[in-house]
Amino acid sequence: MEHEHPPPGPGQRLAALLGGSETGGAFALEVLTLPPYASGPGAHAHPHGEGHYVLSGTLAATLGERTVIVRAGSAVHVEPDVPHTCWNPGAAPVVVLLIQAPPPANPQMP
Ligand SMILES: [Zn+2]
Repeated sequence: MEHEHPPPGPGQRLAALLGGSETGGAFALEVLTLPPYASGPGAHAHPHGEGHYVLSGTLAATLGERTVIVRAGSAVHVEPDVPHTCWNPGAAPVVVLLIQAPPPANPQMP
């Protein structure tokens, strides 16, 4: 398992909106887009907490031992150091706003 976020895989897009240098080290804001049925970052854990707010589509996420389905307009919180991964279980792209606090050291990683 990786301890920083793995880089985006095929078809994934990760756009950094705000990094720690722009928020006084408080948080980072990013948008992750996964094509239909695409896998997201592989299982990983990190010391920052992460909020996933689904803007459109449907996200499936495994957090520790549980798997959740997060529909557009809903959010899920990833606790620090909990192994997690996500994927798109649907036929439409999924677009997810990621809020990370504190911001990760490497702004290219979600
Ligand atoms: Zn993560």
